[in-house]
Amino acid sequence: MLSTASRVPRTLAPAAIRSFARNASTSAHRFVVVGAGTAGVTVAAQLQRAFAAEKRPLSDGDIAIIDPAATHHYQPGWTLVGSGLASLDQMNKPMNDVIPAGVKRYTAAVETFQPEQNTVTLNGDDKIKYDFLVVAPGLKINFDAVKGLNEGLADPNGPVSSIYSVNAVEKAWKNIQAFKKGTAIFTQPAGIIKCAGAPQKILWMAESQWRNDGVRDQVSPVFATGTPTMFGVPKYSKALEQIRQQRNVEGLFNHNLVAIDNAKRVATFATGDGKTAEREFDFLHVVPPQVAPDFIKKSPLADAAGWVAVDPATTQSTKFANVFSLGDASSLPNSKTAAAVSSQAPVLVDNLRALHDGAELPAKYDGYASCPLLTGHNELMLAEFKYGGVPKETFAPILGSQDVPNRFYYHLKKDFFPRVYWSSFVKGTWFGPKGPIRPIDYFYQGATA
Ligand SMILES: Cc1cc2nc3c(=O)[nH]c(=O)nc-3n(C[C@H](O)[C@H](O)[C@H](O)COP(=O)(O)OP(=O)(O)OC[C@H]3O[C@@H](n4cnc5c(N)ncnc54)[C@H](O)[C@@H]3O)c2cc1C
Repeated sequence: MLSTASRVPRTLAPAAIRSFARNASTSAHRFVVVGAGTAGVTVAAQLQRAFAAEKRPLSDGDIAIIDPAATHHYQPGWTLVGSGLASLDQMNKPMNDVIPAGVKRYTAAVETFQPEQNTVTLNGDDKIKYDFLVVAPGLKINFDAVKGLNEGLADPNGPVSSIYSVNAVEKAWKNIQAFKKGTAIFTQPAGIIKCAGAPQKILWMAESQWRNDGVRDQVSPVFATGTPTMFGVPKYSKALEQIRQQRNVEGLFNHNLVAIDNAKRVATFATGDGKTAEREFDFLHVVPPQVAPDFIKKSPLADAAGWVAVDPATTQSTKFANVFSLGDASSLPNSKTAAAVSSQAPVLVDNLRALHDGAELPAKYDGYASCPLLTGHNELMLAEFKYGGVPKETFAPILGSQDVPNRFYYHLKKDFFPRVYWSSFVKGTWFGPKGPIRPIDYFYQGATA
């Protein structure tokens, strides 16, 4: 018997041959999750557990998750890798080891959304139909937006590195160790980025390393940021500014890196009003600008800035009632962190289950996010805050104001959180700042209550 492809007339173009050769299919699931990163996997796991706890467990394939990536990354660990405090393989797991059993996985990328028909279309043209959709594909790190950056990162012996790239994070540590003298620039772009503290965490860890190595006097560290201050929350920004001044780190504010001349080792910054400034460097750590993924930006789910438009309290789409979003891709106006995801997920799951049962949405997200700001070896400032930049500090009643770095927080970040991430967070048993204790004040009691 002839194969499908060999029956196709030779005159057809390759694209036409492909569409003859393979029939696009449609599958259906009750819950479909786009993205199996921190947010997608956590929601899938919490959803499964919540239904099981109500003694109405979901069947295999009731939840489907779509993600083309072979590897799941614990990105908060990349700062530890770049600082020489952990190895990269501790921060990765094969995707199939992280996606909960019973959740159907599609190894493909979502290309378009048809929310009016309750479907998403994958690359390859297959369609997946859903009753309820959770959108969590993260954000796009725009390496192309800085001229010369890709070339700089690709040179294994060059001075340019970034903890925001899985391919360049180990180079950051290699370069920090090797650096003995000269100007070391650490950049932060203007605009929204994930974990807005990470660009300076790597600065403080490098500065501490150079002190330990006895070369600090020969090094001139510079923090060049597109933002006007050290951090978005005034309380922590003030404390970080004091540290910057005490440690004699030059601050270049409203300096947005736009180009690198790798041959001359010159960085160019946009400084507003069409002006630019150039600085020579011997070491350069870059955090590239970050934007909403293109396929979200052009979808009917997006807000004007390209993020998935959701209600800031309920995480429900403001455009389609059976669509929810959380994590970096969502329009939730808080700091884009895994810590925020841990608080958003139980809210989303409760509201999703309530909607599924035809009940009012009971849960409200207060904007909680946290940023464990490494300020050197054995010290960390644990910034925790909610919407409006209002501090919401877990340990303050016992340990005092959290704008003072201490060793306990350092070990939370370095030793405790990475373990908890794999053992609890992505397994759906970690619920925001109270950890394993589910916030009962907004717990949806379920269909039988
Ligand atoms: C250097 C660094 C340091 C950080 N430090 C901290 C920290 O200290 N504390 C903290 O809480 N947070 C930190 N974060 C932030 C945290 O890692 C993110 O906020 C978190 O991972 C967001 O989860 P997410 O699921 O929204 O996105 P991600 O975890 O990025 O996952 C997105 C997933 O979507 C998939 N995807 C993309 N496109 C598609 C598509 N078209 N179709 C289907 N799937 C798709 C991707 O393959 C990926 O698996 C840090 C991040 C970085 C990079």
